[in-house]
Amino acid sequence: MGRRVIPHVPMRPLWRCRSCGAEWPCQPARLSLLVEYRGDRTGLLLYLGALMTEAGEQLAALNPGHVPDLHHRFLGWARARG
Ligand SMILES: [Zn+2]
Repeated sequence: MGRRVIPHVPMRPLWRCRSCGAEWPCQPARLSLLVEYRGDRTGLLLYLGALMTEAGEQLAALNPGHVPDLHHRFLGWARARG
């Protein structure tokens, strides 16, 4: 096995980062999303909102009765400042 660069993408249905194992979106994933969606904050929030919905359904199926704070995790950091 050679060295491979694993992108910071979510592992479904756990929604942990495939590369670093942190809760997705991890810090590197957030940075690359900010770069990718530079100048299109609305598009970024729509994209994250769709993923948040998907994550919410999958995490709820894994752990019924537990409602994680996905809003903060997916959208809190991406809001425009100021
Ligand atoms: Zn990561």
